[in-house]
Amino acid sequence: MAHDFPKIDLHLHLDGSVLPETMWELAKKEGVLLPADDLDGFKDYLVTSADCRNVNEYLERFELPLQLLQEPEALTRVTRELITLLESHGLAYAEIRFAPQLHTRRKMTQKDAVEAVLSGMKEALSEGSRIAIGILLCAMSFGDASKNEQENLETARVAADYLGQGVVGIDLAGYEGMCPVSDFAYVFTEADKYNLPRTVHAGDSAGPESVWDALAFGTRRIGHGHRSIEDPKLIEELLEKGVTLEVCPTSNIQCQTQASYETHPLKALFDLGVKVTINTDNMVLANVDLVHEYDVAIEKMGFTKDDIIRMNINAASASFMPEAKKRKVIDSLDTIIT
Ligand SMILES: [Zn+2]
Repeated sequence: MAHDFPKIDLHLHLDGSVLPETMWELAKKEGVLLPADDLDGFKDYLVTSADCRNVNEYLERFELPLQLLQEPEALTRVTRELITLLESHGLAYAEIRFAPQLHTRRKMTQKDAVEAVLSGMKEALSEGSRIAIGILLCAMSFGDASKNEQENLETARVAADYLGQGVVGIDLAGYEGMCPVSDFAYVFTEADKYNLPRTVHAGDSAGPESVWDALAFGTRRIGHGHRSIEDPKLIEELLEKGVTLEVCPTSNIQCQTQASYETHPLKALFDLGVKVTINTDNMVLANVDLVHEYDVAIEKMGFTKDDIIRMNINAASASFMPEAKKRKVIDSLDTIIT
């Protein structure tokens, strides 16, 4: 189906969305060996490697793009290319997230990495652009919260420095379930100093307790969060606080945090009145786009076209886009619900 209405992606990782052609070219330039003889073989490898045993194995797949994104020019290029692709898919708004501390293996500082991404954003957006973009900076969990405390604190400070200049907030991403989300409270205590908008990865490979932990940080958005369905009290809390879940169905199935589209709790959460949204997570590593996700939502998960539009209204409402643009997107979606 075309789904030709203003679409929104709130949960999209830059390093998981580098075009295969670009990865191929960057690898050649950097002398990085790829697990294929030619570009077609590499594309096949990306598709077949999308399925993993768990979310942590899935995260290991990021090592390849990360190796290739250690120079500012590369970060600028992949940001520009991703935004151009999103605009061609008819998105009205996307929040692209990345962890600046993962790009400092050579000369770049976290600040340099953010500037490189913002340059790519500016190059992609012109006067006539129909898409708006927000950049989220991810603090990282590597399992031990004290391991990269300084780097995570720096991410919050850099986000504050660039807030309103393209950066719209922060996130906590990485290895879920290896230590409690509550161990990362220091990130959000720092974020509180600057009133940073926030979202937190939780309730995916870790259970409902991680969502409770995330809510304690004052977030009104949860990355994934589908496992909230396992805790009726938590559902009440999500409803009462109007929390929005950024659900990424295909990614959840690939990481085996849900067994199938048919048994995924997205529709059950929607029917309970929870503000759910549909997102891609990683366009290349998960090999999906929003149109694909909407198609499976209708064909396999029990949604109607109007439900998809309602979830886009949820996404617009919870987004960190400027109020005027938000109103415009919500109004245009409202008018097409039948
Ligand atoms: Zn994610």
